[in-house]
Amino acid sequence: MADLRGRVALVTGSSRGIGRAIVERLAADGAAVAVNYHARSDAAEEVVAAIEGAGGTAVAIGADVSDAEAAARLVSETREQLGGLDIVVNNAGITRDQLLMRMSEADWDAVLQTNLKSVFLICQAAIKGLMRQRSGRIINISSVSGIDGNAGQANYAAAKAGMIGFTRSLAREVGSRGITVNAVAPGFVETDLINDISDALLDSVRGMTPLGRLGLPADIAAAVAFLASDDASYMTGQVLRVDGGFGH
Ligand code: NAP
Repeated sequence: MADLRGRVALVTGSSRGIGRAIVERLAADGAAVAVNYHARSDAAEEVVAAIEGAGGTAVAIGADVSDAEAAARLVSETREQLGGLDIVVNNAGITRDQLLMRMSEADWDAVLQTNLKSVFLICQAAIKGLMRQRSGRIINISSVSGIDGNAGQANYAAAKAGMIGFTRSLAREVGSRGITVNAVAPGFVETDLINDISDALLDSVRGMTPLGRLGLPADIAAAVAFLASDDASYMTGQVLRVDGGFGH
């Protein structure tokens, strides 16, 4: 367990999947957490109830993180409702998979806006406060697709690779202020996001994974908790693969 008592964390897209596991883990480690959702307020309220039931502190805040005004409001409401902001996890993401020759401009734009532009918007809204307090943790949830590429995911892989360049650049900008910026690159993780992937493809992924299984949301949350903790205070600009060895 990491000791995150007294810290405040904002995790975008934390009403389901990996984001939910991240807020639950950070809250279990002592942080007060903002549970962000886009469409499903009921799912976010369920996460808040689960965290409060376990003795933690959480609030649900609705915001489309690809919208500049909503992203800024999400950051300011987190500060107002929880009394500060120390840990920012950019996790919200979507897929619109298609081979390039059939990919629409709308599918390109939706994925780039939600998965990459949101990271710019949230970080820009949060960074002044973190710089003023001379501490902070920014953790961006990228993907192995952004490192290795993946057929049918040119938009998604471009966004996820963009997050890595963003992470490395921002790490250089704010390191002197005691702020670390890192990325986590999950392999295939069992969430709604992979519902459309065929069983045959998932079986072949398991076959190519030395650890022989898909990832669980808690596997990713554990890496995020480490990067958010004092144990990772000398790590910045890094990309941590959490993929069961899939990429090796
Ligand atoms: P998921 O189960 O589909 O959950 C996505 C979450 O993002 C939901 O809470 C959703 O909220 C939220 N969201 C979507 N669009 C949003 C927006 N515009 N503004 C705010 N929130 C938004 O996805 P997941 O598998 O947990 O993925 C989480 C992250 O991990 C993503 O960045 C994804 O690319 C990355 N990742 C996933 C895998 C995998 O295999 N699952 C692998 C590598 C990387 P609503 O329900 O309210 O819409």
